[in-house]
Amino acid sequence: MIGGGLAGTLVAAALNSRFDEIIVLERDALPAGAELRKCVPQAKHAHLLLSGGARVIDALIPGFLARVYAEGAHDLNAPGDLVAMTTAGWMPRRTGAQFLVGASRPLIDWVARDIVAKDPRVQVRDESPVTELIGDAKRVRGVRGPDGVIEADLVVDAAGRGTRAPKWLAELGAGAVRTEVIDSGLAYATRIFQAPAAARRDFPVITMQADSRGPGPGRGGAVQPIEGGRWIVTVSGTRGGEPPTTVDGYTDFVRSGPRHPILGDLIEHAEPLTEIYTSRSTANQRHRYDELELPEGFVALGDSVAAFNPVYGHGMSVAAHGAHVLRSVLAAGGSTRRAQRVICGIGVGAWDMAAGQDVHFPGVRGASPTRRDLARRAFVDRMSRTAVSRTRVYDAMVGAFMLAKPMSSLMAPGVLLDVLRGPIAPALTEPPLTADERRRAGL
Ligand SMILES: Cc1cc2nc3c(=O)[nH]c(=O)nc-3n(C[C@H](O)[C@H](O)[C@H](O)COP(=O)(O)OP(=O)(O)OC[C@H]3O[C@@H](n4cnc5c(N)ncnc54)[C@H](O)[C@@H]3O)c2cc1C
Repeated sequence: MIGGGLAGTLVAAALNSRFDEIIVLERDALPAGAELRKCVPQAKHAHLLLSGGARVIDALIPGFLARVYAEGAHDLNAPGDLVAMTTAGWMPRRTGAQFLVGASRPLIDWVARDIVAKDPRVQVRDESPVTELIGDAKRVRGVRGPDGVIEADLVVDAAGRGTRAPKWLAELGAGAVRTEVIDSGLAYATRIFQAPAAARRDFPVITMQADSRGPGPGRGGAVQPIEGGRWIVTVSGTRGGEPPTTVDGYTDFVRSGPRHPILGDLIEHAEPLTEIYTSRSTANQRHRYDELELPEGFVALGDSVAAFNPVYGHGMSVAAHGAHVLRSVLAAGGSTRRAQRVICGIGVGAWDMAAGQDVHFPGVRGASPTRRDLARRAFVDRMSRTAVSRTRVYDAMVGAFMLAKPMSSLMAPGVLLDVLRGPIAPALTEPPLTADERRRAGL
């Protein structure tokens, strides 16, 4: 395994009954607890783990969810504990079938790794960068690590967004992988706060989606409850609308950047715990391995295949589905080439959702909106407006967004009929926090 991030850990769990020995080579020094580390810098930012991914992680790593919650993570019902502003306005809250895990990314990674590394078949070697694939255009037979060549029946690339596998595969003569990039120039700025004492438990996640229909850049933000009674507060803006990186600039942007000042109201009563963290690693990027005759014995998954604009919170869940599918295809006697094609297919829904919105923002690089993109946006707008007052449509949207249901569920006849009929009530104009939540947050 190349990479001991979340995808690498999930693959180790997925394949532990198939291989006697699984070696995870990780270039970073791995901490012994839920701590930030150098090579996963995005872990400083809000990481929503959606039910569609969380259930798969829990199936691959039994006990994962119970342990994360025992460490203080929040079990947030969706849409019951979701205060969400879409392009249609604020959405209603109601107990639903989905959920979000309110945890920091370091906690998610550490719990997963801690359980998986206890398996005697799994060896995690940190400070062990892989520098080359070994093999030829027909078959990958191993990798070069710091102590020399390690031969393997299967090499999995889980090296994340910065993977060098396309270059290494070309060096083996396996051909050039086509890479697609659609980049809205989105920048993130994040600060972690201690929530007011009365709001440290039972507080919803609040998200505000950027609106691509205006002439200017998109701006959004989120307050996510995480372990330790903390809030992770992330704001973002596309090219030309990036959040400032100074404390004062960030604080102003939290209030005035997104389309409603609620996040600014909330942080006024919370205690800042960190500096302002920033990230620009947000472009949609995918390597089209599905178009190549890949060598056998090699599979890539997680961000090393497809990485998405993170505001939709899909990366970890797509990685989980990928690990699960890899196990199923190999168990059914399928080839690694077949597994790779299926893994590439798994990311298509998340790609369409993220890239399909990003093409509309000013200054986007890598694509411009086609008629299909314009039609899709008009459909999503109508669906969002309808979802405010028609439960069946909102349930379908939440299920698909949480990657718990296929995107095709949005096209179910009953849902389409409701979308055609349109909304029966307008969206809420204020965030649907309860009086008790407002009081506990000091509002
Ligand atoms: C700002 C931001 C916010 C995000 N928010 C969310 C969110 O809310 N929800 C969500 O689901 N996703 C989110 N994501 C996406 C999420 O971070 C990724 O999808 C996820 O990290 C993918 O896991 P991975 O294991 O594939 O890659 P990574 O987590 O990047 O791990 C890759 C690992 O490979 C190691 N590695 C790299 N090269 C080598 C080598 N040559 N040898 C050995 N080891 C190597 C690295 O050190 C690293 O440990 C966000 C991303 C960003 C940038």
